[in-house]
Amino acid sequence: MPYNYDDQNIFARILRGEIPNKTVLETEHTLAFEDINPQAPVHVLVIPKGPYVTYDHFATEATDAEIVDYIRTIGKVCEMLGVRPGEGGGGYRTISNAGESGVQEVPHLHVHVLGGRPLGRMLQRRD
Ligand code: AMP
Repeated sequence: MPYNYDDQNIFARILRGEIPNKTVLETEHTLAFEDINPQAPVHVLVIPKGPYVTYDHFATEATDAEIVDYIRTIGKVCEMLGVRPGEGGGGYRTISNAGESGVQEVPHLHVHVLGGRPLGRMLQRRD
């Protein structure tokens, strides 16, 4: 099934400069900015500039250059935010929600980088 990208989603509008953001780091293919509704003292979103809906979409269709830039930017963001374990930081969690079961609100790939406090267990069971 082809991936369908909605270019009116809020992160597409941020990338076009139609909506402001608090940028942490910008590279050729990637933008990192603060989440508007932080769930932890550190809560940054890292998005590719290209039109990818989910992690699997990106992994399947992005160029090698986009993928390398994206992954390296996530690493740099962790360093900049001071959350890298073993270097004075207390660690962090990366999350990428996809689709209905993943409860994805914005249909443009984003990795959440969360830290600055103990984050608890990975998932809460809700039957
Ligand atoms: P998700 O549920 O994984 O799709 O998460 C979407 C995230 O985007 C949420 O954590 C929102 O707080 C965040 N968000 C929505 N609109 C904005 C915005 N304009 N600037 C920054 N973060 C946003």
